[in-house]
Amino acid sequence: MKRFSSVCLCVSAAVGSLIAADPPALPSKTASDAISAPDLLKHITVLASDQFEGRAPGSKGEELSVKYISEQFKALGLKPGNPNGSYIQEVPLAGITSAPALSFSVGGKTTALKFPDDFVATSARLQPEQKAENTDIVFVGYGVVAPEYGWDDYKDVDVRGKTILMLINDPAIPDPTDPRQLDPKMFKGRAMTYYGRWSYKYEIAAQKGAFAAVIIHETEPAAYPYSVVMTSWAKENFEIDAPNKNMDAVPVRSWITLDVAKKLLADSGQDFDKLKKAAITKEFRPVSLGAKATFDVKQTVRSFKSRNVVGKIDGSDPKLKDEWVMYTAHWDHLGRHEELKGDQIFNGALDNASGVATILEIAKACTKLPSPTRRSILFMATTAEEAGLLGAKYYANNPLYPLEKTLADINIDGANAWGKTADLEDVSDGNSTLDEMLAQAAARHARLLKPNSQPEKGSFYRADHFEFSKLGVPSLYPGSGKEVIGKPPGFGMEKRNEYIAKHYHQPSDEVNPAWDLSGAVDDAVLLFEVGYQVANGDKFPEWTAGTEFKAKRDEMLRKSGK
Ligand SMILES: [Zn+2]
Repeated sequence: MKRFSSVCLCVSAAVGSLIAADPPALPSKTASDAISAPDLLKHITVLASDQFEGRAPGSKGEELSVKYISEQFKALGLKPGNPNGSYIQEVPLAGITSAPALSFSVGGKTTALKFPDDFVATSARLQPEQKAENTDIVFVGYGVVAPEYGWDDYKDVDVRGKTILMLINDPAIPDPTDPRQLDPKMFKGRAMTYYGRWSYKYEIAAQKGAFAAVIIHETEPAAYPYSVVMTSWAKENFEIDAPNKNMDAVPVRSWITLDVAKKLLADSGQDFDKLKKAAITKEFRPVSLGAKATFDVKQTVRSFKSRNVVGKIDGSDPKLKDEWVMYTAHWDHLGRHEELKGDQIFNGALDNASGVATILEIAKACTKLPSPTRRSILFMATTAEEAGLLGAKYYANNPLYPLEKTLADINIDGANAWGKTADLEDVSDGNSTLDEMLAQAAARHARLLKPNSQPEKGSFYRADHFEFSKLGVPSLYPGSGKEVIGKPPGFGMEKRNEYIAKHYHQPSDEVNPAWDLSGAVDDAVLLFEVGYQVANGDKFPEWTAGTEFKAKRDEMLRKSGK
């Protein structure tokens, strides 16, 4: 510890220069050894018990979960994470149920679409109705504005008040040297970037002032069939109940089936395949279809309060203690579905009682350090992840400590329950220097950090840390390893596939006596080391050049004078 602090002094004097600092020291063995499999199992068993009823936000399960996690934080000696002196950050939520109508008019002929078979439409605006007649329909390609790729699908075209029609996923640009694959220099090739996600497309539509943003569904680029669009949008959806009632959101968010889109385009004298081809070039310009869309989206909105649970450990360095490293894991799951026969409770043992247990164990390890880290550490169990990362989103937009002073978010969603592994997976996809730190931590323990095995699925954009990334805070999201030590090759993958097929988001995601949490302990130790090094280090973690969140972070740090 001593050697380390003297190194720090001289290097922090040289901030901004290119002098390479020694890697920060490692936490004491006593601290790392505090992370234990029996304690992980104890926390998971409580949180995933039937008594907690699947931990739905707004339910009795929320009361019990919030109480359990805040009591654990307190018992570990963590201070209340909210500057108001409590372990709670209240999260105002709204449940929205939509009854939408949509029709297209081309050449004097009007066609009403069938909900939800042909389309879905809803509004994040917390209002009873969104209505607009005969809005101009403009095809905007992929609807992407990505300065780092010199890409702008909108050009100078004014889409205010209009209905914009767009493709899902990133622009699928063929590699000039091998047209059988995607150009690795554009939108990360096969991997999905944030520009490919529906949430991005609705956000840019709002910035452009469109009335409605309509995504054309295609199974392969969306990574799921239209039936998934139907089940996820034609039910109650949740949003943050913001003071502005989300009036900055695009008024109408919609999806249509590929068949409906093809017909609309053909009726307008256009061809889907030709437009799609034009949309993969930088020269693409929006195409006005000469067709009109009429929307009437009626909705019922109910408001309620949920809670993030926060506990902190103050940093030991008077100058750095107002800088933060965060660990997050969502406590919520899908609750109890009374219409089901048999088991009705979605216990969410791996998803994500195991993640909450992991941050509790990392918190415990932090309390066993001979002295606290220089910077402060905030542990947060988030609400409403399953409803769209809402607890994390609320925190990121209403942070308890400034984001420009938040060095990193390390998120855990699902621990490894099948024993020690030689590897672990980098779902964050090498996006920031945190990934390098994790790779080094793995190497120290004779393990290997492997690249994201399914980057085209966009998993990085589908867990809580992403709400931090989006606003610029570097974040880390590891996935379990697959090479289970002492088991035949393929065992880890088999367990993974079995989980996805049988237990993921099912009542059977329960504590299993066959589990071996020794691998989850190993993973937690790596994440503890990374967080420790960031909290004690001389440098802020940085986004990799070309990553879509880098510009935001650079601007944030510039403004704060970093
Ligand atoms: Zn989860």
